[in-house]
Amino acid sequence: MKTNTLGYPRIGDHRELKRACEKFWKGEISESQLRDDAKSVKSKNWFTQKEAGIDLIPSNDFSFYDQVLDMSLLVGAIPDRFKTLQENKADSLALYFAMARGYQQNGLDITAMEMTKWFDTNYHYIVPEFSANQQFSLQSDKIVAEFEEAKVLGIITKPVIIGPVSYLLLGKEKEAGFHRITLLEKLLPVYDALLQKLSDIGVQHIQIDEPYLAMDLSKEEQNAFQKAYTSLSRHNEKLALHLTSYFGAYQQNLTLALNLPVKSIHLDLTKAGNELNQIITNADFKHSEKQLSLGVVNGRNIWKCNYAYALPYIKEATKVLGNERVLLSSSCSLLHVPCDLELENNTTALNPEIKSWMAFAKQKLNELYDLKQLSTDANYQDSAVYLANQKVFSNRNNSLQLHNYAVKDEVKALTKHHTQRNTSFSQRSVLQREHLKLPDFPTTTIGSFPQTASIRKNRARFRKGEINKSQYEDYIAQKTRDAIHWQEDIGLDVLVHGEFERNDMVEYFGELLEGFAFTRFGWVQSYGSRCVKPPIIFGDVAHTQEMTVQWSTYAQSLTEKPVKGMLTGPVTILQWSFVRDDQPRAETCKQIALAIRKEVAALEKAGIHIIQVDEPALREGLPLRKSDWKNYLQWAVDAFKIASSGVQDSTQIHTHMCYSEFNDIIESIAAMDADVITIECSRSQMELLDAFADFQYPNDIGPGVYDIHSPRVPSKEEMTELLEKAKQVIASDKLWVNPDCGLKTRAWEETNVALRNMVATAKGLREEKTLIND
Ligand code: GLN
Ligand code: ZN
Repeated sequence: MKTNTLGYPRIGDHRELKRACEKFWKGEISESQLRDDAKSVKSKNWFTQKEAGIDLIPSNDFSFYDQVLDMSLLVGAIPDRFKTLQENKADSLALYFAMARGYQQNGLDITAMEMTKWFDTNYHYIVPEFSANQQFSLQSDKIVAEFEEAKVLGIITKPVIIGPVSYLLLGKEKEAGFHRITLLEKLLPVYDALLQKLSDIGVQHIQIDEPYLAMDLSKEEQNAFQKAYTSLSRHNEKLALHLTSYFGAYQQNLTLALNLPVKSIHLDLTKAGNELNQIITNADFKHSEKQLSLGVVNGRNIWKCNYAYALPYIKEATKVLGNERVLLSSSCSLLHVPCDLELENNTTALNPEIKSWMAFAKQKLNELYDLKQLSTDANYQDSAVYLANQKVFSNRNNSLQLHNYAVKDEVKALTKHHTQRNTSFSQRSVLQREHLKLPDFPTTTIGSFPQTASIRKNRARFRKGEINKSQYEDYIAQKTRDAIHWQEDIGLDVLVHGEFERNDMVEYFGELLEGFAFTRFGWVQSYGSRCVKPPIIFGDVAHTQEMTVQWSTYAQSLTEKPVKGMLTGPVTILQWSFVRDDQPRAETCKQIALAIRKEVAALEKAGIHIIQVDEPALREGLPLRKSDWKNYLQWAVDAFKIASSGVQDSTQIHTHMCYSEFNDIIESIAAMDADVITIECSRSQMELLDAFADFQYPNDIGPGVYDIHSPRVPSKEEMTELLEKAKQVIASDKLWVNPDCGLKTRAWEETNVALRNMVATAKGLREEKTLIND
């Protein structure tokens, strides 16, 4: 039995890679310095794994930016616009980073490749671009270099690549008239040459990731798998092909996967435990020599592995296949968890009891080793390692920190009534209009205003104890006051307080709710050099104090105009945290929803008449398989409604989502029944409004007219044109005028001009309307 990791975090314990890359981009360090820094991270990772007793240690799982981008360079899929940078050197970092980040130097202006989310994770990859006459050729030598690099250190690694079918499916056609899967024919010779090259330099194991096997596949895509692996099987004698798929079950792709001519296939037991029996009892598989990789240690969360759940799987598999045909693996790459829990020593904020329930990448290696030892021990249930593990789970389960029985009872008592407003939108909207006295085409913003360096500094100083609470708050109050006066001055209709007191829209609430923990070094790569430090939901979530009332009411006290209360929605809080694994996510989400409901009530009681509950992460929570969507959408929409529907008819509920693909989920968006939804629209030139129009979306909509991801200032004419477009598909009396998202990352200078233009746009539309009515 071998232990096996599918990939290891590459950012370094202290985000060394981030720092090195960012310095290199600024020209502060040389390329060779950057490569040296990378080398230290890689060698540390290899030794860590070796010392932990891992048998199959990955290489080529390191990347300066993204592993999919590495594949594009490996197979020579370099879009034409970068050709001037290429100079026949696919390993030039200038070319590499230009593809990732765009290139504006030496009179050239080349746009970056697109970026999108890696399956249902928060990691973003660089989307390969394909043309109809796409050519591929073996280019980058990175994979060979990394294997050699480890070999010099005395470690024989297992290079990891993305398989040909998933690589194609991860990409995008850049012109019409062909499907990217038809490029397989041209791509396979490159994989063939690669495997030959690897086997020539002495590689014995290779991991080929085909995560699309956990997705719905067309017949043609299934055939592509068959074709690809039949063709690559000619290397089988010298090279063991370890095929992996993760994040979900194989389902209708199971027979296909089991029959592919590879050395092993991987099963993500954290997602697809139910398929183990089908696999080991499959007659062809059982009687073959193939190995089964058991993904028992969860690569997506930070909890310890419960050996009482993991070991029965291992026993079940070894009973049929024998020890030699079983690999013990992480469920997926450990890229998605932080590096090392031991960095959270006693001086950091993490409570030691909660810490004792957790495992980061390095600790997960030890778990694989433990499981290997235990699974060959007939009396494992008496062993000290097993008993210690079980003790953790009984401690956790009985912990006073975990359970809040009042919350559990309240959640149980929720009924349909808690997910409905008192009246329909058409009835309550009349009341709201009267009550709020808003003009046609009301103008508003999404919530945050520029988080300037001085605001961040004020927060940092407060955290370090350099200033006291009242000094800290005086500063926030002053910023809030300025923001209110400025909004009045430029003529916005619905104001916001500006969110100056918030570091991050999830962390802010997590810190004030019960049931959340925070780490100091729990960083996970999000994209390129960017990392996030997700909060940890460890126990029942409870609302124990008002979280937003102070700043919202302060802002409201300064103006006659309505100020929106700003809250993050339950699905987004769930989605951007590490979530406890001892109850269904839906249950945890309900608890958060209940807490937000209480905050909504507190805001309403304090005289706030418009409350926005942001759900920017609702769509990204969609399961990988269509068949699971309905269930998810049901509980996600219910959670939003629990949070938002407990208000009077005259209180107006807003929601906000910043993405553009609504077609698939428009029905659920409508079911959320927010009085107003503001969405990102400007980049797609209002295209996405079609979904709302086709569906005849009944409530008010604010399609974003200002792209806040760019420092560019849109003109009045430009925004008018966008709204004229919107008016063609949405009734004028339903339209709001607002930016695409919060203005946190923008500077005041451009924000000031852009929002003045936006207000002028709305005024123009109102005048036009009175002219027509006259
Ligand atoms: N209210 C938040 C803000 O304005 C919304 C952010 C988001 O949608 N991601 O920053
Ligand atoms: Zn947004």
